[in-house]
Amino acid sequence: MTRVLLKFNENQVDQAITSQVIIEQGIPLNILRAHIEPTRGEILLEIPQDHVEQVVEAFQKRKVIVTVQKQLEIDEKKCISCGACYSLCPINVISFKQDHTVNFDEEKCISCGQCVDACPVRALRI
Ligand code: SF4
Ligand code: SF4
Repeated sequence: MTRVLLKFNENQVDQAITSQVIIEQGIPLNILRAHIEPTRGEILLEIPQDHVEQVVEAFQKRKVIVTVQKQLEIDEKKCISCGACYSLCPINVISFKQDHTVNFDEEKCISCGQCVDACPVRALRI
């Protein structure tokens, strides 16, 4: 699955664009996170790997801003096990192994980037 972040402007937030794309393309999309306000909106989606290009095109055709998200990567050689990422993660993706090295549950991560910004030794990258 590939994660993409959709950004909607004030003219798009009250339209059922995501539903239109699902029906038009016939592809199930997994909504991981949605934040909608009257003037803007963001939705984080998971798209089956083989259909990323066509789904992205369908949203772009409707003038939605689409960003394909990369998976979080950790450079274990740099990590000093300080715990800053652990305490900031909003959905408890991060834990520590018995040997005090960091463990990420990649399936749960929503690529918000908070841990990347918090890491004092730049061991994390998205
Ligand atoms: S990118 Fe966000 S969700 Fe993923 S591990 Fe870091 S803080 Fe948690
Ligand atoms: S913030 Fe960086 S150095 Fe600290 S535990 Fe997380 S990855 Fe390791």
